Amino acid sequence: MLRSYTVLTIHGIAIRVHPTFGILLLWVIFHWGIQSGGGLTGLLFGFTLMMALFLFVVLHELGHSMMAIEYGVRVHDITLLPIGGVVRLDHLPDGGRREAMIALAGPAVNLAIAAALLPVVLAYGASQSFGSLRDYLDELSAVGFGGLLISLFFVNLTLVIFNLVPAFPMDGGRILRASASAFVGRERATRFAVIVGQLLALVIAAIGIYAGDLLLPLMALFVIVAAHGEGRAVRLESALRRLRVGQFALWDKGGIAPDKTLRQAHGGDPKDTAVTDGGLVLGMLWRRQILADLAAGKSDTRVADLMDTLVISVELNDSVYDVQQLMRETGRWAVPVVEEGFYRGIFTTDRFAHVYRYVNGQSSTAKLQHLLAARLAEFRASRTRASREWWRRIRA
Ligand code: ZN
Repeated sequence: MLRSYTVLTIHGIAIRVHPTFGILLLWVIFHWGIQSGGGLTGLLFGFTLMMALFLFVVLHELGHSMMAIEYGVRVHDITLLPIGGVVRLDHLPDGGRREAMIALAGPAVNLAIAAALLPVVLAYGASQSFGSLRDYLDELSAVGFGGLLISLFFVNLTLVIFNLVPAFPMDGGRILRASASAFVGRERATRFAVIVGQLLALVIAAIGIYAGDLLLPLMALFVIVAAHGEGRAVRLESALRRLRVGQFALWDKGGIAPDKTLRQAHGGDPKDTAVTDGGLVLGMLWRRQILADLAAGKSDTRVADLMDTLVISVELNDSVYDVQQLMRETGRWAVPVVEEGFYRGIFTTDRFAHVYRYVNGQSSTAKLQHLLAARLAEFRASRTRASREWWRRIRA
């Protein structure tokens, strides 16, 4: 995919424009400059309209963003595509109500703009002695103040209606999922919303083909793909939420003791290692630090002098999903896994990649659920047998 360009930053949220947005610009030149025969005035009109649309979409996405921030969700950026805007949130908030509020905040912005424009539109209509809705619609394509004003009003109204269509990736799809998840849980609610969205897309495609319009089937295809992607992402997330990090922690013989030297510590294969004493985690020894110090000829340095004492340990029963989020947010490649304060092994980014491949590789949801349940039972039964025996010896 082509790279997007950041055009401005508002409250730390980068507003990015995708290169394909240029297609819209070409269309403006073609439609308003050539096809409509408006010449330079027409071009200027079309350009103003496009910039206004750009602004309304940005305000719409900022509506989502502000509501997300209100709920403590970090907003990465907003990307503008020719088909609309996409806001990238760090994660979805827990609870359907919050997700629904974030989804509703976007269309609400456009509804507010349309409501604010309405008196001006009506005043203009009165000055032109418009008698019916037809008069307003006829003025829509007229190059001039009236046409622009009425267009701005209808653009916002369209953004409200279009976004409330209950199909992913539209806001309506999220609202549908959020409402359904109050009854059947998020995963099943997503499956339901995906099916509704895809059925709706098929109807839209059929209407398009019947009417001889190519744009509608194309849009429908986009909705089907997006809905599928959404379903997959949620399936992965819920699987990762169900897996316990202890299932995938590597038992590395209790980590390394703080009084060892670096030479003794790396054992020929430097890797991220937990530093432990009597089963308690004291710190982390990072691979890059070991390599740097070995290269600098400091192989006699004691582990205690080199370790990173800002350790974030996770519990054996924490979910793989939560632990991965934590690792990503804190920029750590590995975390020690503890049980009641005692070291049980290390969970690394490599291990996460392994889990991810494992979960992603299962084709059917039913098969995956079955496998996960089996593995969890196996884990509960055995815990980390090696580590338990090791600590029993240590404590004895
Ligand atoms: Zn939206």
